[in-house]
Amino acid sequence: MIIDIDRLPRKGLKIRKDFEFLSVDLIEENAVFLEPAHAELTLKKVGEEIGIKGKIKTRLSFTCSRCLVPFEFPIDSSFDLVCFPVEFDVAKEELDSEDINKLFYYSRKIDLNEVILEQLNLTFPIKPLCSEDCQGICPVCGKIIKNGECSCVRNDSDPRLEKLKMFIKDKR
Ligand SMILES: [Zn+2]
Ligand SMILES: [Zn+2]
Repeated sequence: MIIDIDRLPRKGLKIRKDFEFLSVDLIEENAVFLEPAHAELTLKKVGEEIGIKGKIKTRLSFTCSRCLVPFEFPIDSSFDLVCFPVEFDVAKEELDSEDINKLFYYSRKIDLNEVILEQLNLTFPIKPLCSEDCQGICPVCGKIIKNGECSCVRNDSDPRLEKLKMFIKDKR
């Protein structure tokens, strides 16, 4: 959805819309949209600056970085940013010092799809986990460790470590 800066009504513009994205456009590998991204946006023009406030709600499927099992990741986030025309670079340095979320727009247009997608990508965790205490996969049997339970983990240490220990013994 492209917004024409010069056609923004003086009193601002409210938009409620479902945005459909391709899952491949997400920075998170293996992430899949379970529903469209529902966004509520308010755009307001002040001089050449366009303020965009918004809320995004959606559900994604992520793959746990420890146990590799897909899990549902709900997103309900809000953002507040200001868009400046790209020609506006005179004041760039001044703006950099300010603690605001800013964006530049080109050719008097703002692509809301890009804005929403970027804001979505910003909400992702660096390492998605199905739960904070996910134990991941047992290095011995390759099964998912549930409730800290895996017979191999309890009985012996990591076989790779054992091998290393033997190796160190041999060297002596
Ligand atoms: Zn997990
Ligand atoms: Zn095991």
